Amino acid sequence: MDESGIRRRGLMLVLSSPSGAGKTTISREILKEDGNLILSVSATTRPKRPGERDGVDYHFVDESAFRNMADSGELLEHAQVFDRYYGTPRKPVEDALSAGRDVLFDIDWQGTQQLSGKMSKDLVRIFILPPSQDELERRLHTRAQDSPDVVKSRMEKAADEMSHWDAYDYIIVNEQLERSVEQVRSILTAERLRRDRLLGLEDFVHRLRTTG
Ligand code: 5GP
Repeated sequence: MDESGIRRRGLMLVLSSPSGAGKTTISREILKEDGNLILSVSATTRPKRPGERDGVDYHFVDESAFRNMADSGELLEHAQVFDRYYGTPRKPVEDALSAGRDVLFDIDWQGTQQLSGKMSKDLVRIFILPPSQDELERRLHTRAQDSPDVVKSRMEKAADEMSHWDAYDYIIVNEQLERSVEQVRSILTAERLRRDRLLGLEDFVHRLRTTG
C-alpha cells in the first residue's frame, strides 16, 4: 500500500491458445519481469517432457491422485485435454488473490469457461493466435518434443481450440514475440487500474476533496 491508501484485488490473467502459438514463451517472459505476478502451476496426468520440472512446470500426478484432487474440491477447474487430465489447484490461487497478487493461468478454453462461471470479475482472458496455419505447423514441428502422431493430433485440436476465440476479452496474433509480450504487459497495466479492482478509493478521494 502507498500513501494513497489504495489497495487492489489480485486479478486472474488467463492465457489460452492452441499448442504452438507461443503462449508458454510469452508467459515466461511476462513472469520474469513482473514481481507481482505468479504462475498457477497446474496438476496434470500427462508425462513429463524433457526439461520440465515437477512442481515448477506442472505437478505431475497419476490418474488416481488427480481424481482425488478433483473429488475433494482441491481444483478450481479441471478438464480433459488430449486424453489427459489437467487442473488448477485452488489454494495457491486464493492465497495469492487475497494478498493482492496477480495469477497467470496457462489453461485451455474449457478451464477458462469454468473460471468465467465462478470468478468472472477477477478474470482477464487473453487468447493468442498464430499468424498463419503454416506457421503453427512449423512451430509444432520444430518444437519436436512430441512424436509426429502427436503433432498431427495437435494440429487437429488446434482448429477446435481456436473456435473458442470469442469467449476471450483480448486477442493477440503472435507474429513477433517481443511485440506480443509488450501487448500482454499493456493489458496487464490497464487491467490493474480498473476502478472496480481498487479498494479504498472513496476514502482517498474524500481526503483529496476535504479542505483544511
Ligand atoms: P501441454 O500438455 O502442452 O502443457 O498443455 C496442453 C493444453 O492443456 C494447453 O492448452 C494448456 O493451456 C492446457 N492446460 C494446462 N494446464 C491446464 C489446467 O490446469 N486446466 C486446463 N483446463 N487446461 C490446462
